[in-house]
Amino acid sequence: MTLAPFANEPTLELRRASVRAGLDEAMARVDATLPLRVPVMIGEDERFDGQLVSTDPGEPERVVADSAQGSASDVDAAVALARGGSLQWASRTAEERAQALVRAAAWMRERRLELAALEVRECAKPWPEADADVCEAIDFLEYYARGAIELAASPELVQVPGERNELRYVPRGVAAVVAPWNFPIAIPCGMTAGALATGNTVVLKPAEQSPGCALRIVQALRAGGVPPEAISLLPGEGDVGAALVRHRDVQTIAFTGSQPVGLEIIRAAAEVVPGQRYLKQVVAELGGKNCVIVDADADLDEAVPGIVSSAFIYAGQKCSAAARVLVHEAIADQLIDRVAGAVSVLDVGQADQLATEVPPVIERAAKERVDRYAQIARRDGRIAARAEPVPNRGWFCPPTVAVDLPAGSPVLEEEIFGPLLAIERVRDVEHACDIVDGLPFALTGGLFARDPSTVRYVRGRTPVGNLYINRGITGAMVGRQPFGGNRLSGNGTKAGGPDYLRHFVEPRALTENTMRHGLEV
Ligand code: NDP
Repeated sequence: MTLAPFANEPTLELRRASVRAGLDEAMARVDATLPLRVPVMIGEDERFDGQLVSTDPGEPERVVADSAQGSASDVDAAVALARGGSLQWASRTAEERAQALVRAAAWMRERRLELAALEVRECAKPWPEADADVCEAIDFLEYYARGAIELAASPELVQVPGERNELRYVPRGVAAVVAPWNFPIAIPCGMTAGALATGNTVVLKPAEQSPGCALRIVQALRAGGVPPEAISLLPGEGDVGAALVRHRDVQTIAFTGSQPVGLEIIRAAAEVVPGQRYLKQVVAELGGKNCVIVDADADLDEAVPGIVSSAFIYAGQKCSAAARVLVHEAIADQLIDRVAGAVSVLDVGQADQLATEVPPVIERAAKERVDRYAQIARRDGRIAARAEPVPNRGWFCPPTVAVDLPAGSPVLEEEIFGPLLAIERVRDVEHACDIVDGLPFALTGGLFARDPSTVRYVRGRTPVGNLYINRGITGAMVGRQPFGGNRLSGNGTKAGGPDYLRHFVEPRALTENTMRHGLEV
């Protein structure tokens, strides 16, 4: 099978009236199916007994999915099935597995408007972000399909007369995929696709806020030809994830989520339980506190929109979102004025409205958390802008800019994951880099500066996983910006990058004596 070279799935041209009309029609079709009934899916078995409910963050009384909830015995059953099915799936060639993923991508492409509409409803992703998320899921399927074929072609080793050496990458076995809600199709699909492409079987535990989106991923993969025993779905809460990652027969854990949960998983994975025969491999993509440095010579016409969109699009709920701006004191007042002006006119509204820039946050607990940090910012510093009023139904938080916070403030140091941006003055770029260096997080970061020597200096110093220069700091594209954090933001795996699949395989070296001693050949 020859696949065309990878290319990113193009996002929709939302300026076209016909495209916008298509979105409305897709939303009407999706609304007519709500609430979605999401089963626990273990192989061919499906159990529907709604206990978990996902709701629209903008209209919390609208139930989007009525989902069954996995139990400890479901974890055992799903892992046993995945283990039993792993030899069969692993015995398929990389090309055969790639074909299944490419067909799953085609399934999603055909339904991309409905998938985006479901994200709008279930996670309040505004249309452009929801569409981009579906495109990213398609990209992961296509990219890892190709990557797995490349990985299956063994690398060249040194060969000497009388000896044949070979290095092969083989699947590790059962992979537990534990996902967050903020990229509700792309992230679980990406981790699952990475594991499946390389011949592992998967048990997927999606976030409790987005079981409906997870159902669509499993349907796409099965429609593409991934056998039921190779992909099971266990919707549920954190306890299901905790039981899954601790299971004796899980060999790989692909986790994306918050730092505390990630650290707990890494600890759990290090415990060898009775009967366990593998060291568990953990792919951990965790939270951040992403800083944007603005030097005195920065082009503010570029910096202001870059900062505002990075901090507030999707209500600051992208892991890559800007949380702190470190601006040279010579232009700090000017930057604060301009960012405050731009933030105060942001369009806060329902995710299904195309004009909306800032939707609600995901749930009540998130709103309460963001409001708490906003109060601390008001108490300890100064609020430079707050886009109020916001709609009174749904989990809306006013986009807020805080300044003059004291060093060590939790607003500066902790991941808030909402529409609250802190701006701080720094003496110079070196001072800003010292602050970035001092953080335990190192996910994304940005720099606005014109002097090439400043750019060189920051490139050389910054510890972050993804550094963006003179542009916004969100929107990593598969194959173009391999994505993932360093330090306590992740263990350095790069989703959508050339090395990602290596985390799902184990290398085996084989050496054969080819001298045929004493034999007539
Ligand atoms: P959480 O860490 O709360 O949850 C992530 C997943 O882990 C969910 O499925 C959750 O289940 C599950 N879980 C919760 N507790 C446990 C446990 N003890 N053991 C195993 N699994 C558990 O993150 P969120 O879903 O709230 O996502 C937001 C976070 O994810 C932010 O910190 C963000 O920065 C980070 N993130 C990082 C990315 C990256 O690439 N570095 C990308 C996207 C998000 P349940 O939903 O039931 O709680």
